[in-house]
Amino acid sequence: MSENFDVIVIGGGPAGYPAAIRAGQNKLSVACIDEWKNRDGSTAFGGTCLNAGCIPSKALLESSELYHRALHEFAVHGVKLDGVAFDVGAMQKRKAGIVRQSTAGILALFKGAGVTALTGHGRLLAGRKVEFIGHDGSKRTLQAKHVVLASGSEPMPLRGVTFDGDRIVDSWGALDFTEVPKRLCVIGAGVIGLELGSVWRRLGAETVVLEALPQLLPMADAQLAKEAARHFKKQGLDIRLGAKVSGAAIEKDGVHVSYTDGQGAQTLVVDRLIVAIGRRPFTKDLLGDGTGVVLDERGFIQVDDHCRTGAEGVWAVGDCVRGPMLAHKGKEEGVAVADLIAGQYGHVNYKTIPSVIYTAPEIAWVGQTEEQVKAAGRTYKTGSFPFAASGRARAMEAGAGFCKVIADAGSDEILGIHIIGPMAGELIAEAVLAMEYSASSEDLQRTIHAHPTLSEAVHEAALAVDKRAIDIPNR
Ligand code: FAD
Ligand code: NAD
Repeated sequence: MSENFDVIVIGGGPAGYPAAIRAGQNKLSVACIDEWKNRDGSTAFGGTCLNAGCIPSKALLESSELYHRALHEFAVHGVKLDGVAFDVGAMQKRKAGIVRQSTAGILALFKGAGVTALTGHGRLLAGRKVEFIGHDGSKRTLQAKHVVLASGSEPMPLRGVTFDGDRIVDSWGALDFTEVPKRLCVIGAGVIGLELGSVWRRLGAETVVLEALPQLLPMADAQLAKEAARHFKKQGLDIRLGAKVSGAAIEKDGVHVSYTDGQGAQTLVVDRLIVAIGRRPFTKDLLGDGTGVVLDERGFIQVDDHCRTGAEGVWAVGDCVRGPMLAHKGKEEGVAVADLIAGQYGHVNYKTIPSVIYTAPEIAWVGQTEEQVKAAGRTYKTGSFPFAASGRARAMEAGAGFCKVIADAGSDEILGIHIIGPMAGELIAEAVLAMEYSASSEDLQRTIHAHPTLSEAVHEAALAVDKRAIDIPNR
């Protein structure tokens, strides 16, 4: 096999593998190196997202939500069940199958695009050489015209709390529980805390979420965050804000979690503790001497707006560089870089990256929050539409939440769209497309939406911006 490639991608997660595939589509010779190892020792492309993140978490969210609905909602539909039970083992088996199918799919895609897949460790050396050490210990030095670094991220540890992989775990461990903990604590009410907290809460765990900040979901529109908090409380998620954790110790009767809040020092005793306080860039043993690649003070690889590092022909994408740690952000960066390398147009619009939290109801947004628009001193108008007024949502017994559109008061350009409600993660795609095309609220108002669909909530919220909604009174 050749030791020379046009492009070598280090990291085969959702940022790295699309970069490799697009480079192959662009008729460049390309290798993708990935060192991921599963707990059973098997290797797999797909990185955190496919193996221990997006995909397994959504599989468990779906299974636990189905159980929850069977238990609490089927009767309203007139569907009678003679007792409802769940089997964590079966849920985990299904999840593992979905993960296997997804990661195997990458190898098939690599084959189709002519990508050389290498499992092992990659390290960038000076002059765009890459040292590759296979999992079998074999060592080779490869040469590339371009190198794309896509080494991803890892869970942030918390001082005073030591992972033991059983009672005290990170998000990967929390996806692998073989039974429902009776008492569960999650540190961090961020995206992982809310999603995985929801999974285990729905299956019956008494779940306490400790959040250091005084506010839930500070990055979301305040109205959305307030509505979300109301639903989480109703679901029995005990979210304690302003709770600063100082340590955790494994005792005979469980894990003792120490924290302080407004009332002073507190101790919580639980069966399992999940630490989900954020992730940090992973660049261990990635860079040899003299590469010219620079890390910033938080450990991210420094890049410009087009993912170029300071070193010629060396690019970096995904969680290991600035910006939101999201699979779709990394994918767009990887594809853009592979196109730029091939001399084509490549660009990521960082203003239209959607955020989705896969709780029930789902939470999704794109663009600026009302608070951000206000702080920028812009004059604006808003329109909201509650799912309770949507025929489709009512038919689905899913009338919770709303859609809110924010537009510039003068130009009518859409500045942000915020949705909490059924399938919000799907509905937000229309909002992203609208903003990508710099649409006005009037553009959305004049777009036909099928009836009865949930998407009519987006349409009506846009109409409400100009007090022209049809299915709700305009105030
Ligand atoms: P990674 O996915 O971390 O992949 C990096 C890969 O590079 C890994 O396989 C790693 O082993 C390999 N690697 C690192 N260094 C080297 C080296 N030197 N040599 C060889 N290989 C190397 N995001 C979403 O958008 N939607 C979601 O629903 C979502 N859910 C999530 C749920 C959980 C529980 C978690 C933890 C994360 C979730 N994320 C989600 C975030 C998402 O997983 C990340 O943003 C995404 O995986 C980042 O992609 P990446 O390719 O940059 O890095
Ligand atoms: P996060 O940044 O979303 O949330 C971490 C939370 O922990 C924050 O609210 C923070 O205030 C809190 N925190 C920090 N230190 C704390 C402490 N000492 N005590 C109590 N609380 C503390 O991070 P995450 O939930 O770990 O997720 C990591 C990354 O993975 C995120 O960047 C997210 O984008 C990504 N992710 C995305 C999805 C999705 O898109 N649906 C799902 C899961 C993860």
